[in-house]
Amino acid sequence: MSPSNRTRESQAAEGAAPSDLFPLRHSYARLPEAFHSRIEPTPVAQPSLIRLNRELVEVLGLDPERLSAPEGVEVLAGNRLPDSAEPLAMVYGGHQFGNWVPQLGDGRAILLGEVEDREGRRRDVQLKGAGRTPYSRGGDGRSSIGPVVREYLGSEALAALGIPTTRALAAVATGESVLRGREEPGGILVRVARSHVRVGTFEYFAHRGDTASITRLADYVIGRHFPHLEEREDRYLGLLEETVARTADLVASWLLVGFIHGVMNTDNTSIVGETIDYGPFGFLDPYRPDEVYSSIDRGGRYAYGQQPGIAQWNLTRLAETLLPLLDPEADAAVEAATEVVQGFSDRFFDAYHRGLVRKIGFRETTPERIELAKDLLQRMSAESADMTLTFRELSKLDGRDPGGDETVRRLFSEPESFDEWSVRWRSRLEEEGADDGERRADMQAANPAFILRNHLAQAAVDAAIEELNFGPMERLLTVLSQPYTDQPEHEELAQAPAAEDRVTRTFCGT
Ligand code: AMP
Ligand code: MG
Repeated sequence: MSPSNRTRESQAAEGAAPSDLFPLRHSYARLPEAFHSRIEPTPVAQPSLIRLNRELVEVLGLDPERLSAPEGVEVLAGNRLPDSAEPLAMVYGGHQFGNWVPQLGDGRAILLGEVEDREGRRRDVQLKGAGRTPYSRGGDGRSSIGPVVREYLGSEALAALGIPTTRALAAVATGESVLRGREEPGGILVRVARSHVRVGTFEYFAHRGDTASITRLADYVIGRHFPHLEEREDRYLGLLEETVARTADLVASWLLVGFIHGVMNTDNTSIVGETIDYGPFGFLDPYRPDEVYSSIDRGGRYAYGQQPGIAQWNLTRLAETLLPLLDPEADAAVEAATEVVQGFSDRFFDAYHRGLVRKIGFRETTPERIELAKDLLQRMSAESADMTLTFRELSKLDGRDPGGDETVRRLFSEPESFDEWSVRWRSRLEEEGADDGERRADMQAANPAFILRNHLAQAAVDAAIEELNFGPMERLLTVLSQPYTDQPEHEELAQAPAAEDRVTRTFCGT
């Protein structure tokens, strides 16, 4: 039975949704059978809309009124397929905590197809929690409402901070419960991504020695995401360069806002450098380079400060899969790939240092300013200073007069440590001679007032699971959509948690 027949048959049973409700195109579905399994979402008992991301809906050229009407919600829940859908689960492998797993794949996510946004860019549309697939192994293919709310909040928070990420299009409650140690209400996240191809997708074929499929996959990624490479004879090296550069920029942008992904396995590493697969992620409260929040990261492999090194490790795994495409001579292939992967460090430090000096109020990067910024970080780490508050409050200090420094000093357990630093900082600012008002505005545009602190995410998740109360989630989304703007009426969401309210363990929860 062909996939389209199967689709039509099930729509007869469920009632078809017109394709103009959700016009989908297909490029991944055109790849050979080895790349995916055709599978439909399993209908849920009683879908209800938790939230539709209207802003994103508009960007995608969809109709928010129709999508939030009962027929639209049925589509978002996977109960009805748009005429245009060709649902499938993608296959991939991956290194999980350093260990090779030959086959993973979408175990609880189903790709419906691709929408073209108003600017003609394609985005994958995926239902996460839509039922079992051939890759579900022992899992139920479902998701609790908790992780749906967490991923919605996390991805929208990063997007508003200007960091590349998958986006949340909608969250739906299924009206069913899932067993996660206890019964929890089930949910589905509708997410969009520039791509769901991962480093692990390449690894899956490489470990089978299937060079033809790797070539096919690389051509697919180049054609869809990096068409400018098509003219290059060494286009596969170009693909590696693109992924290395984007991943370096991405990890730098994470570090600059205190984000810890938590599960940087190769199967959770996007080929286009977007943040993907939100699990036990977290944001730093006190600045601590070795911070680990994830309950499953016992060895600290994915600690905050490990992320650049791990990203490079993951990119090395990608490079290995591309070797047969780079040069018929194995040594020459290794040499070319090694050079590109080693280029990660320069690219990362460029972006990270540029961001750091901006965070302390300078436009141009110089070695002295980098050293000055790092000195502050070291003091913050030694004195348990809250990362976000330190930089935000620093943004507001007078560049000449230390009279108002108490707002920052009190964040350090030894305020004198900040005093020593601020003398150096002010003398550098004076040398620079920039307008102090402009400098403050620049700094506030680089230092968010609001991040998704762990205790806030947890409170929103708890309210959703325990009372189906989405009020806290809504409020966070409103505030986090403008992270660089002071919002006095939401001031308490900018504050660090009291010691007893801190959440230092995060869970993926699936
Ligand atoms: P993650 O690292 O959380 O992205 O997930 C690792 C793998 O486990 C992926 O292949 C997922 O599809 C799969 N998985 C996670 N939760 C479930 C579930 N509830 N049912 C089926 N598969 C799952
Ligand atoms: Mg994953």
